[in-house]
Amino acid sequence: MLLLFVSSLPTCAGTLASDIPVSDSPVMVLPVSQTCAGAPWPNIVWVHVHDNEETARQTALHALRQIQQGCLLDLRHGGSREISIHNNQVSYQFDPNRIFTPKGRQSALKCRQGDCVTAIVQLSHAADQFLSQYLVQKQLIVAVHNNHPDGLSVRNYMAGGTMAPAMSQVAISSDSNPHDFFYVTTQQAFNYLASRNFNVVLQNNQHVHDDGSLSVWAAQQQIDYINVEAGTGHSSAQMAMLAAIWAYMQQYYL
Ligand SMILES: [Zn+2]
Repeated sequence: MLLLFVSSLPTCAGTLASDIPVSDSPVMVLPVSQTCAGAPWPNIVWVHVHDNEETARQTALHALRQIQQGCLLDLRHGGSREISIHNNQVSYQFDPNRIFTPKGRQSALKCRQGDCVTAIVQLSHAADQFLSQYLVQKQLIVAVHNNHPDGLSVRNYMAGGTMAPAMSQVAISSDSNPHDFFYVTTQQAFNYLASRNFNVVLQNNQHVHDDGSLSVWAAQQQIDYINVEAGTGHSSAQMAMLAAIWAYMQQYYL
């Protein structure tokens, strides 16, 4: 339980509930580091939010170095999946991919101790600040994730699977490992990637559960969002997927 990206600066009064003294509410910012391999793309960014998913981080950085352009936004917070905040007012914890909508962050925030009203205010401010600084102006967001052998796979999204109701379409590639799949929010991305023989899942943007994940927020904003999801250690598969993303970017956005 390390960390605390907390300063003593007062937060913007407009974001606070009226019963919270502004001067006692420290700012919490998400622990973003940005690595650029050349000129940033004005309309595209790549994102890595789960600090324990090292294959995805290394593969994305390797791909960007080959492309020699673009940036990876990377949340770094001690190597764990969840972010823990501990300051003199409150202790809380959250999954960083569940905080991008107001509804999502309400259920994602696990407040351990202290002023939990302040915690949600801090978290909302930090998430909104991250979105407005880095993502809201983009046309395409590429997220990179990893899953475990007993965890998520494309099978979860097939008919009868646990995640099936929130999906519009699923394409299965007999040549791909079920743990290596794209999760997309636009028909354009689905068609492009499915036609190249990858596993692809198209989110149903009307019926998807608002769990605060970046895919839900991006759909609300009508931003093309692609999660490049691969099994832990599947570096070459994830690299091939990112090569397809680079081709997709050049076709539609660059
Ligand atoms: Zn992840």
